[in-house]
Amino acid sequence: MVRYYCPGCWKDSQEDFRKCPSCGLDIHRFWDSKDYAEKLIVSLRHPEPTTPIRAARLLGRLKDPRAVPALIKLVRDRKDLFVAGAAIGALGEIGTTEAVAFLESLLQSSDGRIRDLARKALGPLKTRRAPDSSHPHGKDST
Ligand SMILES: [Zn+2]
Repeated sequence: MVRYYCPGCWKDSQEDFRKCPSCGLDIHRFWDSKDYAEKLIVSLRHPEPTTPIRAARLLGRLKDPRAVPALIKLVRDRKDLFVAGAAIGALGEIGTTEAVAFLESLLQSSDGRIRDLARKALGPLKTRRAPDSSHPHGKDST
């Protein structure tokens, strides 16, 4: 059975209402007013985890910086590790200063799985980092 969700209040129904019976939002007009990336950003708040996961992956591919605040919020809410993981991956792909700063802050997370995901997402961006103390005989700058 297909369930429909109102993108304004996320109330679900079994009918594809034009106007949300709960909050009165004109659902068709709402979607018509959004471009592709905006629709994906709205879908990040969808209550069924498969939808935000798919939306996050697509946004990562689009590299649309408008998605960054919504993706960060998704990780912060952390209702679902798979959703958070998809959002972390997308932030790594989008790679704006804000996204990278947030991913770096996740390296201090108390949750080891979140730290791993953040490290993986930062991986390709990390090249600008200087080698750390793991090279005791590294070049001496003095
Ligand atoms: Zn509604």
